[in-house]
Amino acid sequence: MNAETNESTKTPTPLLGLSVAELAEIATGAPSYTAKQIRAFCFDGKSIDDMTSLGKDLRARLKRDYVSVPVTVEKVFSSADGSKKYLFKMTDGNLVEGVYMPHDYGNTLCVSTQVGCRMGCAFCASGMDGLIRNLSAAEILGQVVAVNSAEGGTAKKRAVTNIVLMGSGEPLDNYGNVLRFLDEVSAEDGLNVSERNISLSTSGLADRMRNLADSGHKVTLSVSLHSPFDDKRSQLMPVNRKYHIADLMAAARYYFEKTGRRVIVEYTLIDGENDDEASAKELVKITRGFPAHINLIRLNEVKEKSLKRPDAKKANEFLALLQSMGASATLRRSFGGDIEGACGQLRRRVLAEKNAEKRIAQPATDNESEGRKESAKPRRSKFTTV
Ligand code: SAH
Ligand code: SF4
Repeated sequence: MNAETNESTKTPTPLLGLSVAELAEIATGAPSYTAKQIRAFCFDGKSIDDMTSLGKDLRARLKRDYVSVPVTVEKVFSSADGSKKYLFKMTDGNLVEGVYMPHDYGNTLCVSTQVGCRMGCAFCASGMDGLIRNLSAAEILGQVVAVNSAEGGTAKKRAVTNIVLMGSGEPLDNYGNVLRFLDEVSAEDGLNVSERNISLSTSGLADRMRNLADSGHKVTLSVSLHSPFDDKRSQLMPVNRKYHIADLMAAARYYFEKTGRRVIVEYTLIDGENDDEASAKELVKITRGFPAHINLIRLNEVKEKSLKRPDAKKANEFLALLQSMGASATLRRSFGGDIEGACGQLRRRVLAEKNAEKRIAQPATDNESEGRKESAKPRRSKFTTV
């Protein structure tokens, strides 16, 4: 694992994802194959210290200003259902989450694209403190590399086979870095993940959805809808005040027309908010006319919010209603319910713990927190840590 320390005080530059030409400039004087080797070592998740074939002097030189992978695993939480929640630490101390879900057909990793989120959805823990900062392409990539190597994989023989951009953050609000991430993760001399195995979930930035359709990338696009009615959707997702449902569905259709990829409509069932018959009927109506699949999930309750999870019976009835009207729909099992499954919850809880510990250690005036401006109310909790 990448647990190296860097002696200089400034944030080290990541080598992960740099091109062979860029690496050759950094490793001046080294044989010509060295840059290629460094690039491959980074994708394998090796620390600079572990790149022993490079020679001591070059490693020492690299360590002055660089880090191989700019993400370390801070903690891992195992769920009874087999999934694992990873808490990642960036080189500036910021924390983000990911979830690793092993399946028969492959292993899916959910990664974050921002620290926090500025979209402010009513049901989501990630957006509660707003946006702290965008993650760089190397930091998004670093989450994949860190888990792949922690789970025993290498770049050539990957443990992580599928990737979903569904952790904290709105990927299309960090468009440039997310596109660079897609380039690197799918590069043959990168992780070589087919875009068929990558999903990007958006709250519905319609203009950017069109840009993505035009970009040449062909990832699976998931659109978080959560209500087919503009007034309700605007309450749940403030982004709807800018991009109404009609704009959103037109952009989803455009994505299908450009890429040939069926669009996934994410629909989180929230008790008494969007799980009624009228919502089901309207949902089927607006997703007709182009290949779309409706993915239902029951809300993961967030402690600070009053929104409730409907019971399984109600969720199954909603599903049956959609299917009886001819819609393609499934009810997804939510992973990691016992390990703060909803995105953003785990980070908040760990920060709260850290703050509580600091308060105990420094009871007087120090209320500085981990990372840049992280803050959350202290609360005691129990985890399963491995
Ligand atoms: N910002 C993007 C991707 C990250 S959120 C988006 O909103 O699509 C990934 C998915 O988790 C979205 O569909 C989002 O609506 C959903 N989600 C967020 N909080 C949730 C919660 N508490 N319970 C269930 N789903 C949630
Ligand atoms: Fe941001 Fe997505 Fe959470 Fe909304 S659901 S606040 S867009 S991460």
